Amino acid sequence: MSLDLSAHLTATAEARRQIEICNACRYCEGFCAVFPAMTREKAFADGDLTHLANLCHNCRGCYYSCQYTEPHEFALNIPAALAEVRQESWERLVGPAAFSRAFHENGVAMAGAMVLGIAALFGLIATLPEGEGAGFYAFMSHNAMVALFLPAFLLPLAAVGVGVGRYWREVGAGRATLGDLTAALLAAGRMKNLSGGQGQGCNFEREDRYSDARRHCHQAVMWGFLLCFAATSTATLMHYLLAWPAPYPPLSPPKLLGVPGGVLMVAGALGLVWLKTRADRALGAARVWGGEMAFILLLAFVAASGLALYAVSGTAAVPVLLALHLGSVLTLFLLLPYTKMVHGFFRLAALVAEEAMKRRTPVSSGGE
Ligand code: SF4
Ligand code: SF4
Repeated sequence: MSLDLSAHLTATAEARRQIEICNACRYCEGFCAVFPAMTREKAFADGDLTHLANLCHNCRGCYYSCQYTEPHEFALNIPAALAEVRQESWERLVGPAAFSRAFHENGVAMAGAMVLGIAALFGLIATLPEGEGAGFYAFMSHNAMVALFLPAFLLPLAAVGVGVGRYWREVGAGRATLGDLTAALLAAGRMKNLSGGQGQGCNFEREDRYSDARRHCHQAVMWGFLLCFAATSTATLMHYLLAWPAPYPPLSPPKLLGVPGGVLMVAGALGLVWLKTRADRALGAARVWGGEMAFILLLAFVAASGLALYAVSGTAAVPVLLALHLGSVLTLFLLLPYTKMVHGFFRLAALVAEEAMKRRTPVSSGGE
């Protein structure tokens, strides 16, 4: 007989019910950072659950090892319970919640926003007079690009910053040191937690067997994105400090950083799409599956259109591809607070917060 409490409880209350059972059992203590962190508490406030949920990376190891999953009456599903709380925390902390929910849950809304972004770029390019520059700048001046993209990047970033600040206060993280930040950045850079408690990988798509595929795909996307960001930053410095505007030759720093970055992003994002189609939706936040898939496809499109733009350089295809690429980048930036992209900021905040909490109240060592 199932207790069947879940339908009557909120995501937080259901997670609390399940975490309290885990805190008594502690079989999974070495699996990840979540289980050692829960040993600090005997009773779990909402903020504690928000913190544990953002520490969890949905590897699913605890589900496949648990003796209390259905048909047991406890009906535990820790990965799904924490995924719901995590998702709800992003939607609540990075407002407005209705807007956030619309994009997190809805791939169609995301695709619609992208079409609008691309159409707006087409319209803008069509109204601009022939540019005075070379390459892309023949279609849109450097100043027009900066005027459009700088606020489109900074304003969503500010919204995420406010959300992370709220998270920090809600979980009671307190003061963090440079050492906490360094430890968290090292763990995030290596994606140490995604390698599982003993470095064996996670159970995301292979159920009770282990795999490092998700970790490698995540790493490809993250490092690819950072390389592309470095390429754009380098090009900006070259433009302003060296008076060396685009287009840049194949062996210039922006191209040497941007091309491998784009290839990594495409490969990693397509890998994540494949893994997502194989994994069990019931072990995550099922309601946002479509929105997450649309976001990964958007990432792949941004990178692929950037590479294609490079490949058609100097041909008549440039204006069309420029509008497609810049429209997708604009969509990615504007939706940053309302898509899965936001998980990177909260995950890092959770890792720093956990380092700070561990320093004040040491816990038994976990999977990190
Ligand atoms: S997931 Fe199951 S096995 Fe693991 S600690 Fe919780 S109750 Fe125990
Ligand atoms: S990270 Fe994995 S093992 Fe840890 S709570 Fe989440 S799903 Fe379970």
